[in-house]
Amino acid sequence: LAEILIGIDLGATNVRVGALTPSGEMLYVDETELDAEGSSQTGLELIARMVTLVMAQTAGARLLGLGIGSTGPTDPMRGVILDPGTLPGWRNVPIAAFLSKRFEAPACLENDADAAALGEYWMGVGQGMSRLYAVTVGTGIGTGFVVDGEVYRGENGFHPEGGHQIVDPSGPECYCGGRGCWESWASGSAIAQAAQRVLELWLEHDRQEASGAPVIGQYTPQSILLQMAGGDPARVEAKFVTKAARQGDPIAAAVIRAASERFATGIFNIIMLFHPDMIVLSGGVMRSSDLFWRDVERVRAAAQVSVPAQRIQIKPAQLGYYAGVYGAAYAAWRRFHGSGRPVSSANASTDGR
Ligand SMILES: [Zn+2]
Repeated sequence: LAEILIGIDLGATNVRVGALTPSGEMLYVDETELDAEGSSQTGLELIARMVTLVMAQTAGARLLGLGIGSTGPTDPMRGVILDPGTLPGWRNVPIAAFLSKRFEAPACLENDADAAALGEYWMGVGQGMSRLYAVTVGTGIGTGFVVDGEVYRGENGFHPEGGHQIVDPSGPECYCGGRGCWESWASGSAIAQAAQRVLELWLEHDRQEASGAPVIGQYTPQSILLQMAGGDPARVEAKFVTKAARQGDPIAAAVIRAASERFATGIFNIIMLFHPDMIVLSGGVMRSSDLFWRDVERVRAAAQVSVPAQRIQIKPAQLGYYAGVYGAAYAAWRRFHGSGRPVSSANASTDGR
């Protein structure tokens, strides 16, 4: 009888549930929207229904365990989702115990960034990397550090927040209490908000000029970025900014330049603090990683003075939206079925070395 692992990726807007073999083959995966304002009870039942559906596709396979990668903060030791700002109805939710009881199999919980890092280590670009530092740049910046297949944990098992390292204290205030954090400079929402602020100022300048008030500075007649947003700065998204920057829009280019410099500073700090074998970059903003590459190469060359940083590989992720599903399944495997890397026929030849 076949054996399967269930991997669950719980985000603020979507739930993904996959059935995987212990050797990392994704047999079936399902995805559903989640009502971020809904209660945890409703959410848990939705997840349980998805697990049931996914397991029904695997024809009586034996369930080895369930792993959940969830938006944080989480307590991975107790398997409890604490109080995520993005899911206000979820407070102190013992999701691992709930799923374990419902499906009569062991279940464990990881922070979503850690799950994504584990996924890339197990089946993605980070295979075989002893020290893998993963950076996901989306709405925020999530980081996970995997050392020989184990998530690096802070005190009491808590998840270190690389996204809130301060890269330039002249930057915006962050909800975490800091100012000029990595994610308040270089995340997708930071890029969108920076562009919105500049466009607002620029439109205000325009209005003053139209009113006959004296105006100092250069008038810029066209903005591709503003056109993309239908003339409304509030509708600017990060993907518009990267696209407009490529087309030579000066406001978009300036915003990307500022974000890119600070993004690279964060990478520099990671190199200096951890000297990993590989830094893997994922998330929506990193689909435009080429716009950030020159600054990343600049800091890697600068870091070379102190550590052999040219040997550090910096690569885009491979598993895309499913990294968290893979990583959650792998977390369950590691936690409940030994510390070894599961051997598949596909990678048996490399595992024995
Ligand atoms: Zn912060």
